[in-house]
Amino acid sequence: MSSAAEPQQARAEGTRLYSTAAAVIEGALVDQPTIEVDAAGTIVALHRDPATIPAGPLRYDLGRRLLLPGLVNAHSHAFQRTIRGATHQRRAGDPSDFWSWREAMYRAATSLDPEGVYRATKACYREMLAAGITCVGEFHYLHHQPNGTPYDDPNELSKQVIRAAQEVGIRLVLLEVLYQRAGAGQPPLPEQRRFCDRSVDAYLRRVDDLLSAGVDVGLAPHSIRAVTGNQLRELADYASAHHLVMHAHVSEQPRENAECAAEYSDDGGKTTKMTPTAAFAEAGCLERTRSFTAVHAVHVSAGDLALLGDHHVCACPTTEADLGDGIVPAIEHRRAGARLALGSDSNAIIDLIQEARLLEMNERLRTGARICLALPPSGLGLSLLAAATQAGASSLGRADLGQLAVGSPFDAFTVDLDHPQLADVDSAHRLDALMLAGTAAPIDQVFVGGVRRR
Ligand SMILES: [Zn+2]
Repeated sequence: MSSAAEPQQARAEGTRLYSTAAAVIEGALVDQPTIEVDAAGTIVALHRDPATIPAGPLRYDLGRRLLLPGLVNAHSHAFQRTIRGATHQRRAGDPSDFWSWREAMYRAATSLDPEGVYRATKACYREMLAAGITCVGEFHYLHHQPNGTPYDDPNELSKQVIRAAQEVGIRLVLLEVLYQRAGAGQPPLPEQRRFCDRSVDAYLRRVDDLLSAGVDVGLAPHSIRAVTGNQLRELADYASAHHLVMHAHVSEQPRENAECAAEYSDDGGKTTKMTPTAAFAEAGCLERTRSFTAVHAVHVSAGDLALLGDHHVCACPTTEADLGDGIVPAIEHRRAGARLALGSDSNAIIDLIQEARLLEMNERLRTGARICLALPPSGLGLSLLAAATQAGASSLGRADLGQLAVGSPFDAFTVDLDHPQLADVDSAHRLDALMLAGTAAPIDQVFVGGVRRR
């Protein structure tokens, strides 16, 4: 950073100006803007015309960089980063599917003590921040000791996640998971015990305590298999009363749909097929517009698409590919009205630019068409950026985040336009080159609430 401009008029102490080669401002690509940020880290003015730039504040010239709003990662399990690379060797008898991957994940989940959760989460969030992610929705389900006994502080592990986020300087929305059973009528498996609260009341007491401490919380019934309909109803009521968002894994695997149909349909799923989405709707989880986020929503029916049209779908394409989940029908979800957000999920890969590109490329592979997810009048790059920013922010109940706009916190990152990935790209194609042909590698500065964190 470099400062210039002599103070010529009185300004609020700490107000700063950031000038850059290009930026996405209020959803549009702008050349050579200057952004004015006050001492509290809030954007107070956007100057497209150099003549309007005030002379007083300290000025930073970001140089030949593209300035973008901080990325919002709407779905993460930070601890799963500890098994990165460790699940790609097939053992004898291993069917090598989602469910065998889950066994490896459970071994990691049961091995971490509070300090281990903190260290794993901090390493994960450090990597997120370096990749331009300034806010993460942590779908957090490690709650208790491995045998299920609560720690002295029942929120011990939630607080380790909060501590890691604070030390890294990334914003956190803690999506507190309710997990109560292995499946319909089945008690939790031994390796699931630490995910489980003793009752919904015990879970909501933990949530109460976190809310009283000022933690940004959302409610997260893990999946239709992990909770009962009655429990879902209690969560929906609490979320509604406290204006909290709800997130859940929905239709990630065909087996999940089959088990749901068997549990919820009168004839055991033989003729009528109650879907997970329909079960969430019946329990009241979808009543408040845009308050629900269906994570994955891969194996969905026409009825599910309609039900989710007023809500969010969080796709996690690198994880969905890794686990063989299938392709999120993003075109159909968008056509039905859903807002598409993105998550790094298992954190095997932490790069929302890759997630955004794969969302589009999967649809090209599936449909045989190109340019599937552009939202006219925006081009494709802007539309994918919106998924990685505004839609994620909205899904986490943080509509104030996800864009560079007056009144929003200055959460942003810079992309080095001289990086080998982007050098010599025509200026008109920079954003599309980043989103459709790039990675997070050219990201070199990251700001959260006006504080430079990288
Ligand atoms: Zn997940």
